[in-house]
Amino acid sequence: MKALSPTQAGTQASAVGRGNDGLLRLVADSVPALIAYYEPKTLRCVFANKAYAESNGWTAESIIGKTVREAVGEAAWQVIEPQVARVLKGESVEYVRTMTLPNGEQRVIEVHLIPHFDAEAQLLGAFVLITDITRHQRAEQSIRESAERMRKFAAATTEGIFFHKDSILIDVNQALLNIMGYAREEMIGHHTLEFVSPEWHQTMIDYVSEQREDPYEAEVLHKDGHRIAVELVGKTIIVDGVAHRLGVLRDITARKHAEARIQYMAHHDMLTGLPNRAYLTERLATILALARRHGTLVAIMFIDLDNFKTVNDSLGHHVGDGLLKEVAVRIKEVLREADMVSRLGGDEFLVILADFAAPEDAAKVAEKLLQVIAAPIALEGRALSAKASIGISVFPRDGDNAEDLIRHADAAMYSAKDNGRGHSRFYAPGLADEGADTLARESGLRQALQRGEFVLFYQPQLRVDDLRLVGIEALVRWRHPERGLTDPSEFIEFAETRGLIDEIGQYVLREACRQNKAWQDAGHAALPMSVNVSAVQFRRGDLVAAVKRVLEETGMEGRYLELELTESLLMDRDVVGEALTGLRALGVKITIDDFGTGYSSLSYLKQLPIDKLKIDRTFIDDLGTDADDRAIAIAIINLAKTLKLTALAEGVERQEQLDFLRAQGCDEFQGYLAGNPVPAEEFDAFSRC
Ligand code: C2E
Ligand code: MG
Ligand code: MG
Repeated sequence: MKALSPTQAGTQASAVGRGNDGLLRLVADSVPALIAYYEPKTLRCVFANKAYAESNGWTAESIIGKTVREAVGEAAWQVIEPQVARVLKGESVEYVRTMTLPNGEQRVIEVHLIPHFDAEAQLLGAFVLITDITRHQRAEQSIRESAERMRKFAAATTEGIFFHKDSILIDVNQALLNIMGYAREEMIGHHTLEFVSPEWHQTMIDYVSEQREDPYEAEVLHKDGHRIAVELVGKTIIVDGVAHRLGVLRDITARKHAEARIQYMAHHDMLTGLPNRAYLTERLATILALARRHGTLVAIMFIDLDNFKTVNDSLGHHVGDGLLKEVAVRIKEVLREADMVSRLGGDEFLVILADFAAPEDAAKVAEKLLQVIAAPIALEGRALSAKASIGISVFPRDGDNAEDLIRHADAAMYSAKDNGRGHSRFYAPGLADEGADTLARESGLRQALQRGEFVLFYQPQLRVDDLRLVGIEALVRWRHPERGLTDPSEFIEFAETRGLIDEIGQYVLREACRQNKAWQDAGHAALPMSVNVSAVQFRRGDLVAAVKRVLEETGMEGRYLELELTESLLMDRDVVGEALTGLRALGVKITIDDFGTGYSSLSYLKQLPIDKLKIDRTFIDDLGTDADDRAIAIAIINLAKTLKLTALAEGVERQEQLDFLRAQGCDEFQGYLAGNPVPAEEFDAFSRC
C-alpha cells in the first residue's frame, strides 16, 4: 500500500488533514470499502484508496487529479451524473448500482456520496464511500428464492405445514387451514396446543421439548370441534441463530377408518355385527385364565336354530339373514355386560356366560334365551318363529380349555336336538360320542328309505254316537332289520333335523293314498285317509304341488285325503294360510293334530280353512281324574262346535272316556278302544262301516 504523499495531497491539505497522511492511507487502504474524495468545483479526485482507484482501472497515484468522469469512465458517468449533481447541491446521496470492473466482472455496489462542509457551510468536497454488496445481494437473492421455493412447496402439498417458535404459530400453509377449518389470522400468534386434543397435549409438549424429529400420531381439533386423527412430524430449524420448529401434519382419518374397519372385519361377523369365532376364541382364553385365577365358573352355550334351514330354503336368503340378525339382537338383550355372544357361522351362535354362581343359573339363562328366540319374529309381513336348541358346558367341570369346552357344548347341543329340540341340555361325559352316533343314525335312515324299510300302520277313527268307521289315520313305522318295529317318536324329529323328512313324508303320503285307493277299488267304503305332515314339509312351500302329484299318480280323489298338522305350525300365518288355501282347492281336508298343546289364537283359527280339531291324548288320558283336563276337553269340543269343526278325541282307551266324550257331544274318537294301529292286511275296521 502506498501512502498519500504530502506533495500530492498538499493542494487539498484542509480536506484530508496534514501530518496524518501515512495513517490516513493505512486506514483507507485497510477498510473493505472504496473511498475517494473529490474537489467540488472541478470534480477532480483529491484522494482515493487503492481499492477505489484499482476498481476503476487506476492506481492510487494515477487517479489523483482525474475528474469523476475520467475516473469512472463514460458509461458509469452517465449513470451517476445526476447523483453527483445532488451531492454538489449539498445533499447526502445513497444509491446502489452495478459496476463493471476492469476485468469485466460485475459487482453490485452501494454508493454513499457525502458532502463535506466547512464551518461556514461552504462545500469543501464530496466524500465517496462505496461498499461492495454483491455477496450480500446474492445471499439475499438466494434467501428470497429459497423462501419462494418453500412457499411453493408449502402451497403445493396437501399436508398441513406450520412454523412455530416456543409453540407460538408464526406461519401456516393453506393446506393446514383447510384441514383445521380456520382462517390464517385465527391461527397465527396462537399457541399450538389450542388446536390439539387435550389428551395429546403432554405428548406434544414432550416431543417438542425433546426436539424429536420422528413421525407420531395424535389428534387435533377442527374449528367446529371435531377431532381429526393426524400424523405429525417436526423438525428443528435455526433461524437467525434461534431454534424454530417446522411441523408437517397429515390428516389420517381415512387411514384410521380403514384400519378400524379391517380390524373390525377380522373380528366380527358382517351380517349380525357380532364377534366372530376368531375373536371369541381369543377372548375365551382370557376369560378362562381369569376364571382360573379367581376360581369362578364360565358357561359356554352352543345355540343352534332348529328350523333355520327350512326358512332359508323356502323363504329365501334375505329372510334367513333377517332372522339371524333378529336372533342376534334378542340374544344380546338377554345377556349381561360380562357375557359375550358370537356367531360361529350359519345358524350357530356361541354364548359365553362369565358372571354366574351355579350351573343352574346358566340353565335359567338358556331357558330365557330359548324363550326370546322362539317369540314370533315379524319379517317381511310374515310371523316366523325360530326355535333353538342349546348345549351347555361349564368351566371347569366340563373342560379346562376353550377348545374342549366348545366341543362339549356342541355335543350337548346335538344331544338336545336329538331329544326333541327346542330345549337346552348340559354336557355329560359320553355325549361327545354322539356326533359319530348321529352320523350313523343318519346313514341308517337313508338306507331305510332306499331299502323300503318304512311301512304304514292304520288306525281306525270312529263316530262317537254309533261307533261307525268314519276315517283312518296312517302312522309310519320303521321295520328295522335288527331292532325290529320302531315308533316314529324315535326317528321323525331326527329326520326333520337331518333334512330327511321330505323323502319319508313323500313316501308316507303316496303309500297312504295308494292303499286307500286300493281299498276303495276293492269295494270297501270310501273314507278319508289322515296323513301326518311335518312342519318342515309344510314350510318348504311345495307341499301343495307334491300332494297334487300324489293324487294324480294314485288316482285317489282329494276329498279322501286329510292332512294332520300340528298346532304350533299355525303360528307361521303366511306360510300356512297360503298352503291351506291351495290344499283346500284340491279338496283336501285339514286337521289340527294334538290340539290344546300349542298356542294358536282363536280368532286366527277362525280365519283358516280347517275341518277338524284333534284333542290331544294327554287331556283324554286323565279325563276321569283331572278336573283341568276335563275342562280343557270340554272347551275344545265347544270351540269346535262354535267354529263348526269336527272334534276328534285321540288316545281313547277306556269306555268311561268314551262315555264322557259322548256326554259332551264330541264327534269322533280314535284309540286302542276302537283299534290299535295295524298293518294294512290286518286292518279289519271296515266291518264297522
Ligand atoms: P299322532 O299323529 O298324534 O298319532 C297318534 C299317536 O298315538 C300314534 O303314535 C298312535 O300309535 C298313538 N295312539 C293311538 N291310540 C292310542 C291310545 O289309545 N293310547 C296311546 N297311549 N297311544 C295311542 P305313533 O304312531 O307312535 O305316532 C306318534 C306321532 O308320530 C304321531 O302322533 C305323529 O305326530 C307322528 N307321526 C306318525 N306317523 C307320521 C308320519 O307319517 N309323518 C309324520 N310327519 N309324523 C308322523
Ligand atoms: Mg296324527
Ligand atoms: Mg296326535
